[in-house]
Amino acid sequence: MLTTIESIEYFACGYCTNQKQRLFKGVPKETIHFPAGVFLIKHREHGYILYDTGYAPEIMSPNLKYWIYRLPNPITMTPSQAISVQLNQRGISPQSINYLILSHLHPDHIGQVKDFPNAKIIMTKTCFEDYQKKYLQALVFKEFLPDDFEKRVITIENYQDNKNFPHLPSYDFFGDQSILFTELSGHAAGQCCLFFPEKSLFLAADVAWGVPLIPLTKQMRLIPRLLQNNIDQYQNSIQVLEQLQNAGIDIIVSHDQEERIERVLR
Ligand SMILES: [Zn+2]
Repeated sequence: MLTTIESIEYFACGYCTNQKQRLFKGVPKETIHFPAGVFLIKHREHGYILYDTGYAPEIMSPNLKYWIYRLPNPITMTPSQAISVQLNQRGISPQSINYLILSHLHPDHIGQVKDFPNAKIIMTKTCFEDYQKKYLQALVFKEFLPDDFEKRVITIENYQDNKNFPHLPSYDFFGDQSILFTELSGHAAGQCCLFFPEKSLFLAADVAWGVPLIPLTKQMRLIPRLLQNNIDQYQNSIQVLEQLQNAGIDIIVSHDQEERIERVLR
């Protein structure tokens, strides 16, 4: 049977490194790489859609702000890992990306937004309004956004009940039940997550740093807790992921390990 979503492909666009013990209490010593995941969705009618853009190579430049950002969270990012370069290597021109969905506006998700000049930018209204309210805030690096960013944004709101996804109110953006948009706050306000009914797959951005780390949420240390936009909402969103898991839905988060993501997508 022909599916509306022809394919979903994964690209790792740089990674940061952290110690598991610095994030959670009561765990053995372990160094973890957290790849910045980008997803290329091919819609039979609407063409290429990108979910996030990973890091920009510029994040490695000797700039004080980036240096401070990298300090607690060392980053590895080479020019060849940029999403536009990886797409070109696959024979897909960045100009052919029709839609760019931004889950939220942290630097590891918006690094390459400028490389997709033809894409309509989709984000939740909650996230966009949060950006407009406090865009001078430390964690949104505005220089990674194009000058016409605000003009190109299409915001998502008016979530509705949908029998294809009874777990959360959602928005059927293309009107064909192919991708249901929803939001889960906590890590960031109005973080945009996607459900694909044909694949029973949920892309959950940074709701957790890794699906295998979900059971450790209650053991999260103080500093990583303080780094969340709202820790109570974070815990609630984690509970939603657990409900989806119990319902047999496959979940992928943006910083899951590459092998896990490739396995789930296969
Ligand atoms: Zn984030």
